[in-house]
Amino acid sequence: MIYEDGDIQAIWSEIFSKDEYRAEIAGIADEYPQRKSLVVDYSDINGYSVEFAMFLVDNPDKCLEIARKAAVSLIPSISRPGDKVNVRIVGLPRDSKVDIRNLRADHLGKLVAVEGLARKVTTVKPRMTYALFRCARCGAEQWVEQPGNLLREPMMCSNPDGTCNRQAMRFIIDEKASSYIDTQKIEVQESPEGLRGGAQPERITGYVEDDIAGEITAGNRITLNGILRTVEKPDRDKSTIFETYLDVISVEFEQHEYDEIVITEDDEREILLMSRDPYLYDNIVKSISPSLYGMEEVKGAIALQLFGGCHKQMDDGTVMRGDTHILLIGDPGVAKSQLLRYMSRLAPRGIYASGKSASAAGLTAAAVRDDFGDGRWTLEAGALVLADKGLACIDELDKMTDQDRSSLHEAMESQQISVAKAGITATLQCRCSMLAAANPKWGRFEDGETIANQIDLPPALISRFDMIFVMTDKPDKNRDTRISEHILSTHQRGQARMVPEGSTVEGVDITGIIEHTNNIKPVYSVDILRKYVAYSKRLTPVMTEDAKRIIEDSYLRIRNANNGGVSITARQLEAFIRLSEASAKMRLSNKVEDVDANRAVDLVELCMTRIAGDGSGGIDGDILFTGISTKERNKIPIIVGIMRRFGETGLTLEEIVRHAENEGLVEADVVRTLKTLSDSGEIIKDNKGQYKYVG
Ligand code: ADP
Ligand code: MG
Repeated sequence: MIYEDGDIQAIWSEIFSKDEYRAEIAGIADEYPQRKSLVVDYSDINGYSVEFAMFLVDNPDKCLEIARKAAVSLIPSISRPGDKVNVRIVGLPRDSKVDIRNLRADHLGKLVAVEGLARKVTTVKPRMTYALFRCARCGAEQWVEQPGNLLREPMMCSNPDGTCNRQAMRFIIDEKASSYIDTQKIEVQESPEGLRGGAQPERITGYVEDDIAGEITAGNRITLNGILRTVEKPDRDKSTIFETYLDVISVEFEQHEYDEIVITEDDEREILLMSRDPYLYDNIVKSISPSLYGMEEVKGAIALQLFGGCHKQMDDGTVMRGDTHILLIGDPGVAKSQLLRYMSRLAPRGIYASGKSASAAGLTAAAVRDDFGDGRWTLEAGALVLADKGLACIDELDKMTDQDRSSLHEAMESQQISVAKAGITATLQCRCSMLAAANPKWGRFEDGETIANQIDLPPALISRFDMIFVMTDKPDKNRDTRISEHILSTHQRGQARMVPEGSTVEGVDITGIIEHTNNIKPVYSVDILRKYVAYSKRLTPVMTEDAKRIIEDSYLRIRNANNGGVSITARQLEAFIRLSEASAKMRLSNKVEDVDANRAVDLVELCMTRIAGDGSGGIDGDILFTGISTKERNKIPIIVGIMRRFGETGLTLEEIVRHAENEGLVEADVVRTLKTLSDSGEIIKDNKGQYKYVG
């Protein structure tokens, strides 16, 4: 059906005469120009006439222009040129929702809804919509509409009783009295869950104007409702290929967490059944990247990370993070990257990024001035912001930029990133868990140096990780055999799966291979596991007294194991709590019980002994979180004492060693401590090889 202008106007008048819209319009009349948008729900239009609602989707420009006029006509106080009421349609129907990658020529000029993540947003800048000019000769005023980027001037003076004979060629613009609207340009990228098999996310630019400019910030999950248009190009560019952009008419922010994961009643039944399986934990571990052999502890930890602890708000408003952060540090070729990639696909809202990524925003966020902003400053979200409420898988963390290095630990702890630069002040949310991978200092672990000393990351950053797993690749006949067997079977299974059903290969038992390698198939499919995780987010389990005691005992035990030195801090205690909460959530239990506490304690103790083991079975957290072990720390006062006594004139290394031997230190201790002290600037070595104390 085709609607004439008169019909369209009649329809809008009718819709706007409904009580709720009458009230809205009266509100706008009162508060104009602070309030100037009339938000219309698509379902109201659909309720009035299904046909017209469909016509609107196909002819938005015409329909909306008439709607705006109809709205303005209901508010007599609005009369200046440039004054207007925006009619913003929200709640577009399902078939108007288009994935960014599926936007086609067919959609040009139509109303579409595009979901995604705001990756870049520019600063808000005013754009002149109507310019007020005065004739330089007679002073007659004239308004000129400004649809494009270049200022349009009047052709001639419009004064009807023509002192200047309509010939004047000079006009003075009154910038103050002209009309402006705010504008903002944003780049939206497809949400990760819409992507199949690691495809690169597609992007589209949207223009947001007037009162809704500035509402969106980088990292927001939004639906942009708008009209798809082609970019106007200067005349000399005669190309027939056009860039498209979205002329945004309304923005909808995500309402509920994990809206994108739909859990049906059947799913729910299956989820509840899974939760009662006594082998649930093992099955989930087996479903994480089954093509990778072994690493049960790492996979177990990652499984818990997927569920996460609980965000808590205290009476005084303090917020405690529930997300856990895990670091895998290891030799090359132990499948760190492989595991990270897998997790970024499995986790709801997973993002994979490398520390040495090329984007200006890096891992956190940045204010940049690039082509996108047409010279304006642009706020660009980095991986952690894009992974808000999800999992950020950061590979090659040790290769990150200095900017990331300095801001990352704040981002991990407070879960937000502040940007203040060039007029942009923004706080971006990054409430994500982080699964990071890094290589040791010299590329692979070397014998003869403690593991903790081979982690080349700032201690402040390391201490933000709840768990750090060391993955070494030392030749070991048994293990090597099993891994190679596993890798070969994986490939064999992959090959066998490609053989067309019903056909055979002479001398090879295809069905036999498939049966033999069934352990490589995940117990739970990625799909149901994601739903299970999303479902578990509804719970906030409470700790039982028993569980509390188990955690407390373990914490105190580790803390006391190390005589004198501080081994672990309260930060690790929080790690215990988060992991035990995750374990309870995994069981869909509303209580954190013994099993959960034990699971958390075992995992943390395991990775602490591996990494910070001081050689005697105890755990030395200092070496990890400050870079200096307790034993070494005790040597510092001895050396400092010697230097104080003799250091005025300077001492050679041999002299220091001689004095230190009297106090029970050996040369190696002295060398190491001297290095620590000169790193911290307390000692300097002059060009004659003499050490001086300056601290
Ligand atoms: P990293 O990032 O640790 O350097 P990669 O993720 O690039 O290592 O892994 C290299 C390859 O080695 C992967 O393709 C993986 O299939 C294989 N691999 C390494 N360890 C295992 C394992 N335990 N089980 C199966 N495959 C493995
Ligand atoms: Mg790698």
